[in-house]
Formats: sequence, C-alpha cells, structure tokens
Amino acid sequence: MSQLGGMNADEFRKAAHAVVEEIISYNQNVASGNLSVLPSIKPGYLRPQLPSTAPQHPQTWDQIQPDIAKSIIPGLTHWQSPNFMAFFPACATYPSILGEMYSSAFTAPAFNWLCSPACTELETIVLDWLADALHLPKDFRSDSPGGGGGVIQGSASEAIVTVMVAARERYLNRRADAKDLKDPSPEREKWIADTRPKLVALSSDQAHSSTAKGAIIAGTFHKTVGTKWGEDLAVQPGALEATIKKCLEDGLEPYYITLSYGTTSTCAQDPVHLLAPVLQKYPDIWIHIDAAYAGTALVCPEYANTSTPATNGNIRKPEGLPMNDHDLSQKIDTAEPPLESPNGLLPAASDVLKHVDSWNTNMHKWLLTAFDASLLFIRNRKDLTSALSITPAYLQNKHTDSGLVTDYRDWQIPLGRRFRALKIWFVVRTYGIEGLRAHIRRTVRVGQHFEKLVTDSADGKQLFELVVEPAFGLTCFRIRPGAIPKELSPAQVQDEEESVETKKTINGTPFGTIEQQDDLDDLESTKKKQAQPTQSIEDLANAFSKQVVEVINDQGQLFLTSSSTHGKAFIRVVCGNANASQEAVTRAFEVIVNTTRDVLAKAVDEASRA
Ligand code: PLP
Repeated sequence: MSQLGGMNADEFRKAAHAVVEEIISYNQNVASGNLSVLPSIKPGYLRPQLPSTAPQHPQTWDQIQPDIAKSIIPGLTHWQSPNFMAFFPACATYPSILGEMYSSAFTAPAFNWLCSPACTELETIVLDWLADALHLPKDFRSDSPGGGGGVIQGSASEAIVTVMVAARERYLNRRADAKDLKDPSPEREKWIADTRPKLVALSSDQAHSSTAKGAIIAGTFHKTVGTKWGEDLAVQPGALEATIKKCLEDGLEPYYITLSYGTTSTCAQDPVHLLAPVLQKYPDIWIHIDAAYAGTALVCPEYANTSTPATNGNIRKPEGLPMNDHDLSQKIDTAEPPLESPNGLLPAASDVLKHVDSWNTNMHKWLLTAFDASLLFIRNRKDLTSALSITPAYLQNKHTDSGLVTDYRDWQIPLGRRFRALKIWFVVRTYGIEGLRAHIRRTVRVGQHFEKLVTDSADGKQLFELVVEPAFGLTCFRIRPGAIPKELSPAQVQDEEESVETKKTINGTPFGTIEQQDDLDDLESTKKKQAQPTQSIEDLANAFSKQVVEVINDQGQLFLTSSSTHGKAFIRVVCGNANASQEAVTRAFEVIVNTTRDVLAKAVDEASRA
C-alpha cells in the first residue's frame, strides 16, 4: 500500500480472491438454511462497533475485511435464505454478481451513447432478447416499426414515475394540440399550467404504493378504483368506468392508469382484456402494466399464452416433476404444465398487451438477477424522450445529433446510469431461457406444495383458510374464524355466519372445507342460545393471524409478512426464492401451525384469568 493508501493491482488480486471466497461461503451458509433469516440485533447495534470518526490513516484490506463477518453479517436479513418467505424475493445469483463486478470495474455513467457505446448497445440487445423471451408484443422491441423499446431502470417505482411523467406530458400536449394552441406559445404554456393541477392518475386500490408515490412526484392527484374479495381483488370494467366518470364530473382529468399483473398483497391481476374496451373510450389515458414481480413468469409459455386473470397465476403442476432441484444447471425442467383454462380460448399476453403503453417487471425479484434490474418496455419511445429530453450544450455531440444512437438519459430520471445490462446478459446466457423457466416452474410448485399443506393437511383444514386463490408461488391465508376458541368470543355466531358467506363467494369458488359446513350447522344450533355480539370473530381472526406473523418474526428463524385489505388480515408466504424448497416450506408450515396453536392457547389462558 502506498503512503496515500488505496489498493494496487497485487493487493486487489489478493483481496478480491478473499472476497470471492467469503461470498461463496456466505451463500452456502445462507442456502443451507442454518442461519437465522432475521438478525438478532437491536436498532442502533452498529454505531458502538465502529469508530465515531472516519480513519485518518490508510488501512489494509486485512484490517477491513474481518469487519464484514464481525459487524455487517450479524446485521443482515438473509434474503437468499430458503426461510425468507416475506416480501417478493430478491434473487442474487453468481452470474449476476459477476456482472456487478464488471459493471463497477468499467464504471461509466453512460448517459449517452458516446459515454460507452457498449453499455447502450448491450442494453438495447438484451432488452430485445427479453421482450421476445417474455412473449411481449413485438411493438416493445427497439426495431419495431412504431418505435418501441426497453430500458433498464433501477426499480419498478422508478419505472412507474418515469412513465407517469411521460403520460402527463403526452396528455397535456395532445389536449393542447386538440385546442389548436400554437407550440410554443405563451397561451399554450398558460393552458398547460392551468390544466396540470386537474390531472389524476388512477390505479386499483390494490396497486403497489409506487403509483401513489409516483403521482405525488409527478404533481398530480391519485384516485383508486375499488376492488372486492368476491372479484379476485381485480379491477372490474364497471368500477373503472364509474371512477373515470366520477373524476370527470369532479373536474379532474384522468391521464394515466396502473393496471397490475400480480399485486403486492395477493398477486391479483387486473383483467386487461376486459378493461381495454373501457379505456379505449378515453384514448389519452396512458395504460401502464405493473408486473414487477409476476411479470417474469411470462418467460414460461404456459403463462404467456393465457394472459387472463384467475387462471394464469395458478397453473397447476403436473404430477411427478421435481420440486427440490436447487441446481438448475444440472437438471432442467422443460415440461410445460397443462393449462387449466376454463374454455381454452384465452388471449395470449402479446394480444392483451397490444392495448398498453408500457409494461415493467423486475428481474431483480424473481428472475435470478442481483438488485437492481427493472425492465421497462414502452410502445413509443418518443413519448418518453419528448417528455424527458433536454440537451444542454455540454451534452451535445455528433452521434446524438445524427439520430442514429440511443441516449438512455432521455428514457429515465437521472442522467448517469449503471452498466446493468451486463448482469442480465450473464444471467440469460448462463441459465438459458430454459433455465429461467425451470426456476419459475420449480418455485411455483414449491408454492403449490405449501398451498396443499394449508388446504389439505389435517392441521391446515382445522386452523386456516385461503383468502384468495394462490398465484405465482404466493399463498395468502389466515386463521379461520371457526378455529377461534369459543372461550374467546361470545359473539362468534353472528360473525361466523358472515365469514362463511364471504368464503362462499371468493372467486365464485367454495374455498370452504367440509368442516365449514359443520361450522354452519354449529352456527344454527348455537345461534339461538347466544346473546347479542360484543366482539367480532372476524377481528379476532385478523388480529391472531397478524400476531402469529409477529411471533414468528420475533423468533427470527422464518421471515413472513402479513397484509390486510377490505376487512381481512392474512399471512403471506412467498416461495420465489432461488433457494426455496419443499423441505423449507414444510418446516415453515409446522412452525406456523405450532405458533398458531400457542397464540390461541395463550389467549384462552389470558381470557380465563381475566
Ligand atoms: N410493484 C409491485 C407489484 C411490487 O410488488 C413492488 C415491490 O414489491 C413494486 C412495484 C416496487 O418495486 P421496486 O422496489 O422495484 O420499486
């Protein structure tokens, strides 16, 4: 090390080897499931371990590296653990880590083509590959006659706010053109300034919060279209049209809508094919599909060929396919599960997506690519570039002027950008499309194994109920109101009646088990004896479901989340992780069952002592 510090090539070689070894052993340790998925430290744990000021003098790598094991790893939540079933996964794989290494080495904030032509050109090529691999319409390719294309954004939230700004500008300019307001002119500028505060972005009440946040950043209103349990929590055409009409009556102008392909809470899918006819009546509304998590499933033809809700999120596993194949390069599952389409006539993704302006998915969630790699595809790149392109004198160059090159700075909010295409390139090449499909199919099957434990095991039937049809490896379930001990709620009769009624209508499918019929019979006989309700059994089922998640997370061996909507709280178990396995979800189910029994028993005990 020189007196000025830093690292020379020999020191880097030695340090990098040591880092690679440590990363491998960390990964193996995490994959084994032996590490507690949640750290056991308390908030503020790190400050006492580090000096209060930055070092005055250079330190060697031998002094620095041990602090990773000592201070950093104990404060990590292990997203790659098979016991991480909380949020949608963030899969990091070796090829994507290699991509990150090169990306750092080649650091070039390639805001325009000249600032590293390879960064731009590789991005365009891999995004075209992925548009095809994901079975998206050809319109989203960079060579489409309509001028579409893809760009890598840092996150789905960034993708959403970016297209929202493009949508806002497109809406205002189209409307100003329709009014024959000369461009540029002070009149046009004033009309746009007066109209902008009336704009409203729409989404379902289930859409990810990034749409609400995007609307704040874009400086517009945000209104939601209501959904219902009995309608798969998906936007329905009537509700959409009513919301648009109400906005117009109130003097607001809808300019943008997020439709979801896999909502965060339950993986609900808005039926684009049914909503498109409504939206075609309002052609200035920009349609964006947020497929942040579930969208990567479209790499499998069985998902892409049925882009219709309620069937494509839940493609059933053919019996006998492996469920524990961690090493996809060894054993590739290329079988396409049979479709369970009600009529076999469902529109393909590419047909449905012909109606939309933009679509995004995160490879850094389910598709084996280290954070961050959010793919945004757009039908007409001019919509983006005319909203976001500003070329001050210092950015002018003959290549940009020629119009022959892409300057991705005009497709995003920041100027500089990372070389993210490399890691995507490596992932796609080392897995191949078949390997990517195998990963999606395997993890969906792990999810279906978990679902069966909830619906078919003796414990599952006794304690739990699904709140929606599981989809894309996500199972949402809660404690059955009928499983709440009688000692806890003198009011259960009336509420159970409502609960069973609700169950009967979810998806139009009777989720209930035979025991729920028993509940009904029980209900009839005890109803007459019961006094007026004083406490809701639904509230108890909700509260205990949430408590089970809290107790499990406090123990740290398993990481789950709960969510709630329209009066129901529920537990979410996600199985998209690259290390997810049948064994891990079976163990998780045992923990959930035991914890549920403990929580209910403790509550009974406390109630009896009160
Ligand atoms: N959209 C959906 C449906 C999500 O589930 C999420 C995050 O889980 C997001 C958007 C936001 O993703 P990001 O963290 O990439 O902004």
